[in-house]
Amino acid sequence: MAPIERARTASLLVLCPALIVLALALVGAQTAPAWLEPYREPASRILAAATSNTDAWQRLAELTDTFGNRLSGSPQLEAAIRWAAAEMKADGFDNVHTEPAMVPHWVRGDERADIVQPIPQSLAMLGLGNSVGTPPGGVQAETLVVKSFDDLQQHKDEAAGRIVVFNVPFTNYGETVVYRSDGPSQAARAGAVAMLLRSVGPPGLRTPHTGALRYGDDAPKIPAAAISTEDADQLQRMQDRGTRVTVRLVMGAQMLPDVESANVVADLTGRERPEEVVVIGGHSDSWDVGRGAMDDGGGCIVTWEALRVLKRLNLRPRRTIRLVLFVNEENGTRGGMAYRDRHTAELANHVLMLESDSGVFRPLGFGFSGSDAARAIVNQVATLLRPIGADRVGQGGGGTDIGPAVQAGKLPAMALEVDGTRYFLIHHTPADTVDKLDPADMARCVAAIAVMTYVVADMPERLPAGGDGK
Ligand SMILES: [Zn+2]
Repeated sequence: MAPIERARTASLLVLCPALIVLALALVGAQTAPAWLEPYREPASRILAAATSNTDAWQRLAELTDTFGNRLSGSPQLEAAIRWAAAEMKADGFDNVHTEPAMVPHWVRGDERADIVQPIPQSLAMLGLGNSVGTPPGGVQAETLVVKSFDDLQQHKDEAAGRIVVFNVPFTNYGETVVYRSDGPSQAARAGAVAMLLRSVGPPGLRTPHTGALRYGDDAPKIPAAAISTEDADQLQRMQDRGTRVTVRLVMGAQMLPDVESANVVADLTGRERPEEVVVIGGHSDSWDVGRGAMDDGGGCIVTWEALRVLKRLNLRPRRTIRLVLFVNEENGTRGGMAYRDRHTAELANHVLMLESDSGVFRPLGFGFSGSDAARAIVNQVATLLRPIGADRVGQGGGGTDIGPAVQAGKLPAMALEVDGTRYFLIHHTPADTVDKLDPADMARCVAAIAVMTYVVADMPERLPAGGDGK
């Protein structure tokens, strides 16, 4: 609309308030289908109940203060799983149980990295998950700083016997994380004896970020660690000035035999079609630094609280809502695979799977993957979340934990979407603690998940099946 026309229309509307009311009513009638109307009242009750307390934040604080971080194979994780199952029973949910999954058991051990030449200085580092350790005395070699895989290829002749440092500034996770996962084997193929990685995240108070690496079968397994962005920049500057830098890396990391762990499962059994299931959840494990508050204690707690709010309000939907705390997202996805394998026969009855694993900051809405027909319905449901500003439905409803079942069953899938500005600042770091999260934002996450899940589980017609498997 041209500015003058817009001004004219605006003045017309100002002159005729009745016209505005009529216009709004017409727009409302056009966009809101009749089946949605009965959900306005329960949705507003859920929003009010979920945002009237700080239960989610308090529970996350209790979880992370009590058990600390929860790497797969650790006693802390097993204790947290037992606690969660007991608490869910106390919450009065149905069918509370654990479902076993074998998980990898990687341990970090003692570790450090130091510049030894030209003058001793320590580096802020964290070994990468799944890395092999060094010999007890460590690996000592001159560094070769490169800015990309291409850059490494161009300096291949200089890499043999060196510690290759990938100094790749963070753009987005997808683009940058390949240096963490594939960098060690790329460096090893060029003859490197160890690899250091600029942490995958924006610069932030000299904090290294861990995360999993993936060794290729065709390369020697060399030890690999992340260093802070500041330290990577320092090594870069020294190399650019022509200074030869020698680093010693000592890592006690080792991979022990798999151990048995478990997913935790609890249902709010549907009143009419209990066999049809909407799954919500997050992952119980975390990295072994910080407290795993944002990743993904928060996702576990907000989905859990969503179920508690519905129970408290006596809102038992037509279909079952199932809460799953998946185990071992960080270094194996064994929980997600175990859920798929155990429930293969019932996947056709899975209406939707929703994961919260992108942090529990201010919610914006959801990512959704599924058919166009299902998306149109989800868009309608999301309008009920306008009061808390969480009514956006974007693309990309995947999640690592729900992925195996979603792909096997070609299921509609959803991910809670939040304001992710600060996510990668603390992701996989010692700084992932509950104080970084806001109680009111977490309450809004609970509200968004509870409303969306309740309506999808209760609508007269089932959400159209079919997903793109992503
Ligand atoms: Zn996660």
